Amino acid sequence: VESGPLATLRAAVRGTVERGESALAAANRDASPVIGNADAVVRPVDASDVASLVRWARREKVPLTARGGGTSLDGESVPVAGGVVVDFREWTAIEGVDAAARRVTVGPGVVNRTLHEWLTPLGLFFPPNPGSWKSSTLGGNVSTNASGPRSFRYGSTRRWVAGADVVLGTGEIARLGPTTLKRSVGPELLDLVVGSEGTLALITSITLRLAKAPARRCGVVVPLPPGARLGRIAGLLASEAPRGVSAIEYVDATVAAALRERPGARLPGPGALLLLEVESDSESAESEALVALASRFQAAGVPESPSVLPDADRMWSLRGEAGAVVADRTGPSVREDVAVPLGAVDSLLERVDAIARSEGTESHVYGHLGQGNLHPTFALDPASEGGRRVRQAVLNAARALGGTVSGEHGVGSLKRDWVAEELGPAPLELLRAWKRVSDPDGILNPGKLLP
Ligand SMILES: Cc1cc2nc3c(=O)[nH]c(=O)nc-3n(C[C@H](O)[C@H](O)[C@H](O)COP(=O)(O)OP(=O)(O)OC[C@H]3O[C@@H](n4cnc5c(N)ncnc54)[C@H](O)[C@@H]3O)c2cc1C
Repeated sequence: VESGPLATLRAAVRGTVERGESALAAANRDASPVIGNADAVVRPVDASDVASLVRWARREKVPLTARGGGTSLDGESVPVAGGVVVDFREWTAIEGVDAAARRVTVGPGVVNRTLHEWLTPLGLFFPPNPGSWKSSTLGGNVSTNASGPRSFRYGSTRRWVAGADVVLGTGEIARLGPTTLKRSVGPELLDLVVGSEGTLALITSITLRLAKAPARRCGVVVPLPPGARLGRIAGLLASEAPRGVSAIEYVDATVAAALRERPGARLPGPGALLLLEVESDSESAESEALVALASRFQAAGVPESPSVLPDADRMWSLRGEAGAVVADRTGPSVREDVAVPLGAVDSLLERVDAIARSEGTESHVYGHLGQGNLHPTFALDPASEGGRRVRQAVLNAARALGGTVSGEHGVGSLKRDWVAEELGPAPLELLRAWKRVSDPDGILNPGKLLP
C-alpha cells in the first residue's frame, strides 16, 4: 500500500506509474558515476498529462527529473533528490515534416540516429551527431545543447531548434519560438530552455530546423607525427578549411590503437589520428577538397597522406566508441569535457599531462579538436580523492586558459561548483531569477546546473 505523496500519484496522471525495483534501478543511473534515489517512474501520455503531473508535484513538493536516453555524463538525468523520473522515451512521433521549409516536429523521445535515418530519403538531416546518437534522444540533445563532430561546420543543437512546446514548473503549457523565419519581439525565450537540463521546463514537442544533405560525404583519417602541435594544426585547418570540411576530430595514440581493433575499423596507423569529414556535391568537388586538404596537412607539418573512408557515418559511430574503449582500459575514470580557444589547446594538453603525472596516473585525450573541445580522461575513480583533485585541476586549467568547463555535455550535478565563476555574478542572478519564475517550487531537476 502506497503512502505519502505517492498515494495520490496514480490518480493524478493518465500515464503508467512504475515503482518496481528494475525500473527504479534503471532510472537511478545515467552514463555518469552519479547514483539517484527515484521513488517512481512515470510515462505521461501527452502534454496535458505532463501538466497534471507538474501540478501534482507542486502540491506534494516532489522533485521531477525528465529523462530521455539516460546517456548524460555528469548526472544530468539522475534523480539525485529522489522523486519522480519523467520518462519521455515513448514520445517518438515524427510529424509535420515540411521538406520545402526544412522543418520537422518531433517528440522529445525520438532517438537522434532514428531521425537521421528517417530524414535520409528526403535529402535532409539534423546536423548535431553526438557520439551517443544511437541512444540519445532529441529531448536530451536540446536540454544539453548537445553537439557532435559535424558541429564544426553546423554548430550545436541550439542553432537547429526552431520551436518547442513546454510545460513550465508552474504547470502552465507554453509554446516557445517564432512561427516565422524571422522575428523581432524581444529576446528569444526559446533559447532559455536549450541547455537548461530539465531545470526550467519539461519539453513535450520540438520543432527542428533541418539542413540539406550533401550529395557526398567521406571520412578522412590521417596519422599524426609524435609531438605534433595540435592547437597549431587545428588553427591552420580551421581558419582555412577547404570548402566542405564539416568535422575535425582528434583521438590520441592509445585511443586510436584501441579503435583500430574494433571489427571493420580500417583506420590507418600508427599513432594519434585526426578524423575529418568532407562534404561535397560531386565527385570532382570531393577530389578537389581532398587535394586542398592534403596540402593544408603538409603546411601544418603532418607528413602522412590522408586515407579516405567512404562511409563517414561508420567512422563517426567508431569515433563515438572512444569513451568506451578508454573505459575498457581504465575502469572507472574522470572524463571531462572542457573547451578552450584553439590557441590554448597545446597549453591545455600540457596541463593535462602534468595533472596526470602529479597523481601518478594515465590520461587520454580525444574530442572535437576543430572547436577546441576535448575530453581529457584520467584513470582514477571519480569518487576518490585523487579523482576529485584531477577534475578540479582540469576544470580550473580550462578556465585559466580562457575556456569553459563544458563544451557540450552539460553541468549536471558534478560541475555545479564551477557555474558561478564561469557565468559571473550578474548573469548567474538572471538565471536564478528565470528559475524562480519558471519553477517557483524548485521541483524541476533539483541539484543540477545551478550552484
Ligand atoms: C558514449 C557517449 C558518447 C557521447 N558523446 C557525446 C557527444 O559527442 N556530444 C555531446 O554533446 N554529448 C555526448 N554524450 C553525452 C550525452 O549523450 C548527451 O548529453 C545527450 O544529449 C543526452 O541525451 P539523452 O537523451 O541521453 O538525455 P538524458 O541523459 O536522458 O537527459 C539529459 C538532460 O536532459 C534533460 N531532459 C531529457 N529529456 C527532457 C525533456 N523532454 N524535457 C526537459 N528536459 C529533458 C534531463 O533531465 C537531463 O538533464 C555522450 C554520451 C555517451 C554515453
